[in-house]
Amino acid sequence: MSDVSSSELRALMARVPSVDKVMASAEFAPLVSEYGRTQVLNALRDALDAWRISAQSGDAAGDAAGSPAVSALDTAQLHTTVAAALLARNASRLRSVFNLTGTVLHTNLGRALLPDESVRAVMTALTQPANLEFDLATGKRGDRDDLIDDLICELTGAEAATIVNNNAAAVLLTLSALAAKKEVVVSRGELVEIGGAFRIPDIMSRAGAKLREVGTTNRTHLKDYEQAITAHTALLMKVHASNYAISGFTKEVGIDEIAPLAHTHGLALAVDLGSGTLVDLGEWGLPREPTVRETVAAGADLVTFSGDKLLGGPQAGLIVGRRELIAKIKKHPLKRALRVGKLTLAALEPVLQLYRAPEKLTERLTTLRLLTRPAEDIHGAAQRVLPALQQAIDARYTVTAEPMFSQIGSGALPVDVLPSYGLVVRMADGKRGGRHLLALEKQLREMARPVIGRIADDALRLDLRCLEAADEAQLVAQLIAQANRH
Ligand SMILES: *Cc1c(COP(=O)(O)O)cnc(C)c1O
Repeated sequence: MSDVSSSELRALMARVPSVDKVMASAEFAPLVSEYGRTQVLNALRDALDAWRISAQSGDAAGDAAGSPAVSALDTAQLHTTVAAALLARNASRLRSVFNLTGTVLHTNLGRALLPDESVRAVMTALTQPANLEFDLATGKRGDRDDLIDDLICELTGAEAATIVNNNAAAVLLTLSALAAKKEVVVSRGELVEIGGAFRIPDIMSRAGAKLREVGTTNRTHLKDYEQAITAHTALLMKVHASNYAISGFTKEVGIDEIAPLAHTHGLALAVDLGSGTLVDLGEWGLPREPTVRETVAAGADLVTFSGDKLLGGPQAGLIVGRRELIAKIKKHPLKRALRVGKLTLAALEPVLQLYRAPEKLTERLTTLRLLTRPAEDIHGAAQRVLPALQQAIDARYTVTAEPMFSQIGSGALPVDVLPSYGLVVRMADGKRGGRHLLALEKQLREMARPVIGRIADDALRLDLRCLEAADEAQLVAQLIAQANRH
C-alpha cells in the first residue's frame, strides 16, 4: 500500500461531506429521531476520525491503479457505519441465553426463573405508584416489610420477618445487629465459602463480631459449644454447608440440641440455611433439604435464606425468627442500606403465594417444574432438537441424544442427582475434540441468543432440562437459520 502524499490527502479530505450537511441529510433524519442528536453526532465524529486516521496511514488511498477508494465515503456510507455503531452501542448488555449447562439454579446465569404472576406484578410496580411504604388503612407512613411479612410467617411458622437484598446481606445484618463487639460460636465444619466472596469468617469480621471456632472440621460435639460460651458470647450460629459435603467419621450437632443450650444461657441461635426451602422436596423424589419451618420448629431463633435459590423467587435475603430479635435487626442502620426495592417485593409476593397451593407447585413454580421435569420429557426435546443442531454445525462433529445428570445448583447438594437427557457433540472421526470442541462451544456462545453448554469427557454437552417448549422452538429456529447460512 502506497503512502498518500499530503496534497492527495487534502484532496480526499475536501471531498468528505461536512458534519452539518450529513446531520441535516434525509438519510440521517431517522437516526437522529431514534437516538437523539448528541449520540448521532458523537458516532458520526468517531466515524470521520476513524476514516481520517486510516486515510493518513494510506488505507483509504485506493487501489494500485491510483483511483481513490475514498470516493465511497459519502453520506450513504457514513449512514451505514454510524447506524451499525449506534445499534451495537445501544444493544442490551444483559442478554437472554439458553441455559443448557444442566445446572438449574445457575448463579452466573441468574439463578431462579420467575413465574408469570411475578412478571405481571413487576410490570405493574414498574409503571404505577404503589403503597410501598404507605399504610392504606390509616393514610400514614408504612413499612415495606409489612407487605409480605405475614405471608412469610404463615409459610415458615416464624413470629416475624424482614427482607434485604440477598442472603449475604441477611447474614451481615443479623451479625451486625446482634453480635457487634461480641462473640459468635460456630463449628469449624461450617466455616464455609460460598461462591464469590461470601466466607463466614470474613462476614463475621465485617460485622464487627468475633468468631469463636469450636470443634474440628469433621466432628463437633454439644460440649464444644457449651465450653465456648462466656460472658462475651452473643450468638450461637449454624451454617448450612451448602456446596460441600462431609462424609465418613463425622458429627454435627443438631439445631434441636444447640437451641436448648443457647436458651439456657440466655443466648439466641442463628441458622444460615442458604437455600431456604419452604416445602419438603423429598415429596417429589428430590434430595431432602431442611425446610425453614422445620428449622424454626427445631428451635432456631433466627433463620436466614436466599429468595432466588430453591425458593424460586427474585434475588433477596429473608430473615425470620423471634419478634424482639427481628425488631432489633430492623432498627439497625444497615437495614436501610440493604433494603429491597419495590420490584423485588412485587416479584416475591406472588411466588410466596404459590406455596399456599403446594399440590400445584410443580406446575406453577418454574424452579420446581424444572427440577421435577421427567427425563422422558427431556428425551423428547433432545430428539426434536438433534437434527437442527446437527445441520447447524460443521460435519466434523456428530450429535447424539444421551442420558445425563443435571444439578440443582446454588448450594443444594453439590452432586449430580437429577436424571436428564441432552445432546452430546463429539468429533465425527472419533478423535479427541480439544480445540475443535472449544471452537464449537464458542460458536454456540456467539449466537444471537447464546447457547451455554459445558465441555466434559471430550464432548460438548447440552442438557435440555431447562429448555421448555417456547425456548425449544426458539432454539430450533435459531439453529435452522444458522444451517441455512451455509
Ligand atoms: C448461598 C448462600 C449464601 C449467600 O446467599 P446469597 O443470596 O447468594 O447472597 C449464604 N449462606 C449460605 C449457607 C448459602 O448457601
